[in-house]
Amino acid sequence: KTAGPETAASTASALQPAKAARPMIEIEDVSKWYGPIQVLKNCTTRVETGEVVVVCGPSGSGKSTLIKTVNGLEPFQQGRITVDGIAVGDPKTDLPKLRARVGMVFQHFELFPHLRIIENLRLAQMKVLGRSFEEATAKGLKLLDRVGIKMHADKYPGQLSGGQQQRVAIARALAMDPIAMLFDEPTSALDPEMINEVLDVMVALAKEGMTMMVVTHEMGFARKVANRVVFMDAGEIVEDAPTDAFFGSPRSERAQAFLSKIL
Ligand code: ADP
Ligand code: MG
Repeated sequence: KTAGPETAASTASALQPAKAARPMIEIEDVSKWYGPIQVLKNCTTRVETGEVVVVCGPSGSGKSTLIKTVNGLEPFQQGRITVDGIAVGDPKTDLPKLRARVGMVFQHFELFPHLRIIENLRLAQMKVLGRSFEEATAKGLKLLDRVGIKMHADKYPGQLSGGQQQRVAIARALAMDPIAMLFDEPTSALDPEMINEVLDVMVALAKEGMTMMVVTHEMGFARKVANRVVFMDAGEIVEDAPTDAFFGSPRSERAQAFLSKIL
């Protein structure tokens, strides 16, 4: 009996059942330098589909840099990152296309100030995904409703509070039907009374099964929805542990010191 390609493939998968479900985000041995300064040191972690991973650590530890490497906003010199199996560092990878599928929400809302809220939501849907005006409007309004901003659809970003603008930024990212969402300190520029309205949207998203990588110091959020916590210090992933284990008994002195300062 000759082994055709089909037989070979089924044999390979039978031998590697664990490989069937590949992680949504896989970061392997990633290092990055700014000139002579190494800012990421052999970072390895992964985010399974539907998982929420919180990244925390002191200021300057490399959290933003790490999360930006995931959708190709920051190049890296060593290691490997894949998103849904697509190699981010491969020069052949269509980065704009990848970025369209990985939502990113920053500390500063980065809405287009000269465009109305609904126009902010329509723009990339039409330009990048080729959706019609009607389709993009319907999707935009649905998502604005979901984050509680539908009544402000015709306003400009400057007419909304910081918390409202950040919820719009989340809705705008979701309008692209992302396969994963990256958040970089989405609440740290907000007045305290607005933090929860943004976290509530993120908690709902997590509970619906969105794959999320979240840089935050909101440890209440981490306890509530994170599957794992990654702790960084000086460019290294010092700890990568299930949430309960991380808060219950952080292994490293550096994580203990960090937690004792912020909790
Ligand atoms: P975090 O988000 O944890 O506060 P960052 O990822 O922003 O940390 O920064 C990690 C390190 O990289 C810091 O030492 C920072 O000063 C340095 N860094 C960040 N961006 C640049 C840049 N564009 N050029 C040079 N160094 C940078
Ligand atoms: Mg940062």
